[in-house]
Amino acid sequence: MPHSVPNPNIRQTQMFINGQWIPSQSGKTFDTINPANEEVIAQVAEGDAVDVECAVEAARRAFDEGPWPRLNARERGKIMHRFCDLIDEEIDELAAIESLDNGKPLKDARYVDIPLAVECIRYYAGWADKIQGTTIPVNGDFLCYTRREPVGVAGQIIPWNFPILMVAWKWGPALAAGCTLVMKPAEQTPLTCLRLARLAQKAGVPDGVINVVPGFGPTAGAAIVKHPGVDKIAFTGSGETAKTIMRQSADTMKRMTLELGGKSPNIVFADASLEAAAEGAHIGIHLNQGQCCCAGSRLFVEDSIHDSFVEKVVELSRKRRVGNPFDPATEQGPQVDRAQFEKIMSYIEKGQEEGAVCATGGQRVGDRGFFVEPTVFTEVHDEMAIARDEIFGPVLSVLRFSDVDELVRRANATTFGLAAAVWTRNVSKAHTLASRLRAGTVWVNCYDVFDAAAPFGGFKQSGFGRELGQRGLDTYLEDKTVTVSLG
Ligand code: ADP
Repeated sequence: MPHSVPNPNIRQTQMFINGQWIPSQSGKTFDTINPANEEVIAQVAEGDAVDVECAVEAARRAFDEGPWPRLNARERGKIMHRFCDLIDEEIDELAAIESLDNGKPLKDARYVDIPLAVECIRYYAGWADKIQGTTIPVNGDFLCYTRREPVGVAGQIIPWNFPILMVAWKWGPALAAGCTLVMKPAEQTPLTCLRLARLAQKAGVPDGVINVVPGFGPTAGAAIVKHPGVDKIAFTGSGETAKTIMRQSADTMKRMTLELGGKSPNIVFADASLEAAAEGAHIGIHLNQGQCCCAGSRLFVEDSIHDSFVEKVVELSRKRRVGNPFDPATEQGPQVDRAQFEKIMSYIEKGQEEGAVCATGGQRVGDRGFFVEPTVFTEVHDEMAIARDEIFGPVLSVLRFSDVDELVRRANATTFGLAAAVWTRNVSKAHTLASRLRAGTVWVNCYDVFDAAAPFGGFKQSGFGRELGQRGLDTYLEDKTVTVSLG
């Protein structure tokens, strides 16, 4: 597979603490790899506990004494809008770095991820001067009112699947609320987060408000989680890591939002618009190389249309163009790294061993880079590993159903509860299912429709708290009740 790789100017590879670019105290660096050709893109400063100490100290000072939480709220919003203007100015270079580091098609980064990120930050910029309390009619001669105050220093730990977008989901509400923050980007994709820190600084975000410590989870990540100077953790990643984080943050009683994995049911009834549903099933699993926490990885198809519908979905998978992320025709790039690639290939093997039918895909593409064929398994049963576990790759499991009550029971028979979708033209069926499915988001006759104003998050072990919308902002605020004697 030929790879023409652009050469964007990667200027930021050091840690960003208190407005300064500095190496890690240990002097260590780690390689960040281009998953399309397995070559090293850059060496990035590897932060650990001592570096986190400095970052938290800076964030703490910026919160306790600095201008950010005390700024006129409207001014905070203006600086956030300026930050977005600067992102827009550099969008082509940012998209190239994102694609290089993550492997996603350039056009996805350029036309989907970054515009959504900008929209999210602008949405929260609008909130900055609309955060207000209430007056409460209490008994007696008192004036009682509430204030909504920033929670303090936020520790933000993000994954590699949507590096820029995850920064926006985390920084947007934190900055609007007046918090300061220490972020650890994923070790696979640190580059665009660092560039965004530079742009935020240029936009006028004061030193110490945003601090970025690249590094690994058990060192830099754990140090953020345990640090007594951090008031809140916002984490997106795997359930196992989330459980460790919950245990490790218990001693310091941190506020917490967790956005974790899923095994989301995508349900197609015979009375749906089948062309649209097939497209929705296809995008629902394959978007972003299957590396979406809300991927529709369990496709439930009503028995009466099963074979013809599966044919459509298989056909779409066969036609999906896998290749160089910088080729405008490419729809699917490589998986993010070797570990993810190997995990996906082992699930494909498991699916075959357990007796599912691999209707298309199942192989590596090429011998360089972590490319996997879009894969569809049919004749999948609920107890198979490919129907139960989050694979986080382009692997769809198709299951049959006929009875609706039984379908709901099976769709909900998972420890996850992030998302679900229903395809039907019957309005009452759609709304009934929307209420019976135990998931934080239910899409009806669509999939992967996100909006900065619409809350997103999980039921059950898909996490708690919500991101986006007003609910996402709430998680960065404390309520304070003030009671004043008028006597
Ligand atoms: P994934 O499987 O998607 O990589 P992880 O949960 O391992 O999910 O990683 C998500 C983020 O959490 C990354 O930034 C990673 O470095 C970080 N992380 C991993 N382990 C820990 C830990 N013990 N404490 C804090 N952060 C961690």
